[in-house]
Amino acid sequence: LLGPDGVARPTIFAEMSALAARYDAVNLGQGFPDEDAPAAVLDAAVAAIRAGVNQYPPGRGEPDLRAAIAEHRLRFRGDVLDPATEVLVTAGATEALAATLLALVRPGDEVAVIEPAYDAYAALIGLTGARMARIPLEGPEQQPSIAAIDAAIGPRTRVVLVNSPHNPTGTVIEPALLDRIARRAAEHDAVIVADEVYEHLVYDGRTHTSMSSLEAGQGRTLVISSAAKTFRVTGWKIGWITGPAALIDAVMAVKQFLTYVNGAPFQPAVAVGLRLGDDYFDGLRASLERRRDLLSAGLEAAGFAVSPSRGSYFVVADPGPLGIDDGDAFARELVRETRVASIPLIAFAPGSTDARTRRSLRFAFCRTDEAVEEAVSRLARLG
Ligand code: PMP
Ligand code: GLN
Repeated sequence: LLGPDGVARPTIFAEMSALAARYDAVNLGQGFPDEDAPAAVLDAAVAAIRAGVNQYPPGRGEPDLRAAIAEHRLRFRGDVLDPATEVLVTAGATEALAATLLALVRPGDEVAVIEPAYDAYAALIGLTGARMARIPLEGPEQQPSIAAIDAAIGPRTRVVLVNSPHNPTGTVIEPALLDRIARRAAEHDAVIVADEVYEHLVYDGRTHTSMSSLEAGQGRTLVISSAAKTFRVTGWKIGWITGPAALIDAVMAVKQFLTYVNGAPFQPAVAVGLRLGDDYFDGLRASLERRRDLLSAGLEAAGFAVSPSRGSYFVVADPGPLGIDDGDAFARELVRETRVASIPLIAFAPGSTDARTRRSLRFAFCRTDEAVEEAVSRLARLG
């Protein structure tokens, strides 16, 4: 995690956002929205601060937020959860991932991960001393193969980390393949950790399949989600983890010494968000779907080969047809010359020798229509 000079290296997101600011680029790099949360959610946070909700909240999270998380999982996923024992509030999905891996994984264990992967996965697995077993996404639809699933999950696997909808590819993993993952995890007595932070962002009329709904994963599945993407509050760092009480207890044992507790006045505000009507969640998805369409078409028109994005905030585009073979260098050139920032896909699969992975860029479309349109018009000058 340190550079050769012993100084902490910034993440690729921090680095590209700094370049975007320096060159006054449209920032389609780091995945954060440029619109605010719904007014009711913002008002609830302000009211909570004014009402004095500013001291340590209970260790597992405010009871009313835990109740709202359980209601939300029942309403959207059909899960019946006990908010007292099966729900834990965390400092974003990131802390949920960190506490889970630190709680469950020992040096020498294996953690199976779909690759490319959100950059924190490899870093956190590194902190546990475990080994990462990769399940590559393949083909035009970027799905894991059954053979790769079976090869990566075996007797040494302690945790299988699944992320769908997927960052960075925008892939939504097919239910049959999720089921294969759950069965294989059960065969080897591994815990399934499902990072579902993009659960409300599945497009084209499809629905999200939560790992918690699969028969084979019952009793061994932890689901992680976050207010960040669903309510456009990435700076609040309110996440949560749900699942069997014994596993939640293990995660809690670590969480209490990572942050102890977090975000007191934001917790009641997120409870308000989770109880919003279906029109909010439908509207969020529709607005992002529209921007996905706008950006995907603009990238195609500019000469990229675009992989279909089925969910999340992201679309991956391959500049191979433009004669580019080094995505990392091209992302830096694009931010300077075209003033559009992206993230090189190689940042999510360090060391990959796959030519398309080495060339491709991830673009975020969680931006206003105007920002996406401006990026598209700048990209149009590329060809
Ligand atoms: N997992 C994935 C797949 C993500 O994309 C992100 C955020 N970009 C996180 C976890 C972290 O979420 P949070 O900001 O709630 O810590
Ligand atoms: N998750 C966001 C992304 O993938 C960024 C989070 C971060 O900057 N660490 O763009």
